[in-house]
Amino acid sequence: MEAKQHTTEPVLQAIGVEKRFGDASVLKGIDLEVAEGESVVILGPSGSGKSTFLRCVNLLEQPDGGRILVKGQDVGYTVKRGRLHQVPPRELARRRAQIGMVFQQFNLFSHMTVLENITEGPVGVLGRKRSDANGRATELLELVGLAGREKAYPEQLSGGQQQRVAIARALAMDPALVLFDEPTSALDPELVGEVLATMRTLADGGLTMVVVTHEISFAREAADRVVFIDGGVIVEEGPPEKVLDNPQHVRTREFLARFL
Ligand code: ADP
Ligand code: MG
Repeated sequence: MEAKQHTTEPVLQAIGVEKRFGDASVLKGIDLEVAEGESVVILGPSGSGKSTFLRCVNLLEQPDGGRILVKGQDVGYTVKRGRLHQVPPRELARRRAQIGMVFQQFNLFSHMTVLENITEGPVGVLGRKRSDANGRATELLELVGLAGREKAYPEQLSGGQQQRVAIARALAMDPALVLFDEPTSALDPELVGEVLATMRTLADGGLTMVVVTHEISFAREAADRVVFIDGGVIVEEGPPEKVLDNPQHVRTREFLARFL
């Protein structure tokens, strides 16, 4: 990990984020702050709005209300006097590049090597020199436990290895924040551990991350804070030992009981 400048300003501020699909109100005002270096795990039942929230944070979905600030700056939309204002596309691309995303489906480009997958963004979007991007990719492959696999194609790798390449690809953009949406849910059970171990390394290394997962043990060991979402609202949040071992709300207790 690169050394990070110390700052007290939150990396992410989600303020009253709302999202509707037709008549369905899916996010009903989500407030979440994530500090630099913090690792936040979001838990919640299927359909509770977890993915929609992450997609709103990096503007894959346009929120209907509220604000998303990264390092104090609106990512793309501002509500001023009840109206939504948009930032121009080029500036939006620059701001969105600050937010990395790792999906359940790894979405690697199958016709590109591991190295090409990782360097495509830094070279194509950030304008980095090819040699610099390659050097950084080599470092990142080491970090995710895939040293020397530059020339492999995705189909030559296991699902767990592909997901670790996807993590390296997200990190190659030097994002301020990385969002993970159920990164181990598509993996065969025996491959889950290696991806969680990589994520644990990143959390310990000070990466600012928001992770949606059903892996309670990861939440317990790697999260600084656990947030429980149900029905488009944050029901409860706090340190893992508090939320997981002494939940205050019946909905949190019912949800956690499924994992016992
Ligand atoms: P989670 O990730 O917690 O399982 P989602 O955020 O994916 O939940 O979905 C929350 C709700 O929003 C669900 O009822 C889902 O069907 C609905 N939803 C999500 N995306 C769309 C969409 N693009 N169009 C319509 N409804 C959607
Ligand atoms: Mg989801």
